Amino acid sequence: MGTKYDSLHIFFFPFMAHGHVIPLVDMVKLFAAKGVKTTIITTPLNVPTFSKAIENAKTHRIKEIQIQTIKFPNVEVGLPEGCEHVDSIPSPNLFPAFLEAIALLKEPFEQFLFQQRPNCVVADMFFPWATNSAAKFGIPRLVFHGISLFSLSATATMTLYEPYNNTSSDSELFVIPNFPGEIKMTRLQVGNLLSKDEMSSFWKEVHESDVKSYGVVVNSFYELEKDYADLYVKKLGRKAWPIGPLSLCNKDKEDKTYRRNKTSIDDHECLKWLDSKRSNSVVYVCFGSVVRFPNSMLREIAMGLEASGQQFIWVMGKQKEDSEEWVPDEGFEKRMEHKGLIIRGWAPQVLILEHEAIGAFVTHCGWNSTLEGVAAGVPMITFPVSAEQFYNEKLLTEVLKIGVPVGVKKWTLFVGDDSVKWDAIEKAVKRVMVEEEAEGMRNRAKALAQMARLAVEEGGSSDLNLDALIVELCSLSH
Ligand code: UDP
Repeated sequence: MGTKYDSLHIFFFPFMAHGHVIPLVDMVKLFAAKGVKTTIITTPLNVPTFSKAIENAKTHRIKEIQIQTIKFPNVEVGLPEGCEHVDSIPSPNLFPAFLEAIALLKEPFEQFLFQQRPNCVVADMFFPWATNSAAKFGIPRLVFHGISLFSLSATATMTLYEPYNNTSSDSELFVIPNFPGEIKMTRLQVGNLLSKDEMSSFWKEVHESDVKSYGVVVNSFYELEKDYADLYVKKLGRKAWPIGPLSLCNKDKEDKTYRRNKTSIDDHECLKWLDSKRSNSVVYVCFGSVVRFPNSMLREIAMGLEASGQQFIWVMGKQKEDSEEWVPDEGFEKRMEHKGLIIRGWAPQVLILEHEAIGAFVTHCGWNSTLEGVAAGVPMITFPVSAEQFYNEKLLTEVLKIGVPVGVKKWTLFVGDDSVKWDAIEKAVKRVMVEEEAEGMRNRAKALAQMARLAVEEGGSSDLNLDALIVELCSLSH
């Protein structure tokens, strides 16, 4: 256990969604392993989602991680009792109410700052007010977006030049200007960036708070996206510390399994099934923690997987509590008995991806999943849905060349572009698994996985960035 950074105390404030909590808790473990004093600020019902991860971390003799809770004002804003996590928001149109509740956390958060005077705050971008709150006490605030440097600089560049204004239709391609790689997008793919809805003023606030903050900590590694890291820092003038892949801080099986408290399948059962398969012979299919495809889309995926002739693990996610479990068609699961494993609920994703039987990953391109795929050396079939996932698709397919797009044309909020049909899925899966180009993709993916491992090892780029950040924060607080 390091002791030289003992005097440093950092508050970590994760946004209440799995894709934000999971990497931030990994980040806390990294800082704690360096001997930094860490406190996670959250609300009572969010603690159980990561308490096992923290419990396990203790066995690695890292510095103790503190947890402080703030009451979540759900009822005050019209959300049901017990709704403290994005998962439990009853319908998407209540998301603004969730953000309203989050804004009310400001005062109790400032109370903690006043009482404990940490040396730094690492707060999720969903808490834009945290920059000013920290500033009141002379504390630097770092932002965690949970996205790549490619996406951070693409977003900043698009905001600066608004290239989509020069197109005559939503499906016309435009190039992101002054951006490496000749990346072409359509207005349809950048969805929320262009929408002028009730969220626009929130995003403006996020942007302003970002610019005023001390900098950003990024779940990525320099070698993966050098050009975009350089653009972000040298041309766009931001301070950024890529210290990932954060998932690689989980060394043993327990850590990898319980990044969220429970999984819906016995990990032994899942690994035993994979152990019986040849190397690179199974496709892993998972769309993260928030996408909820309608049954019509699930049917296309089922048909596409079957037609590809490949073995698969398909994490179907949990259907809404009140709806019937969807079954592809009567014969599907029977026909796929030895070929496919369906997980309804939560899978131990990192553990699965790292298994040598996995040969490809059909992903919605959430950044955590994307980077976990990279860290495991698995080529991907890209099936973006919303958020900044279309940027991640470009990075995988056009820059790193370790993925094949399934051909999604349109950004949608969690439900998927219904123009994607089974034959496109079949084709993309075959390209990555068995066709001529598969080997090149696999080799490039393996090389990147090796780079990822080196980056987080002692003396690697991410490890050095973490040390440099800690030293800088120590110097600020003296
Ligand atoms: N995840 C998991 N098991 C599942 C579904 C998701 O472990 O069954 C994890 C996944 O490993 C990743 C996170 O949940 O760390 C999802 O984050 P991502 O950014 O990929 O997508 P989001 O859920 O935010 O859309």
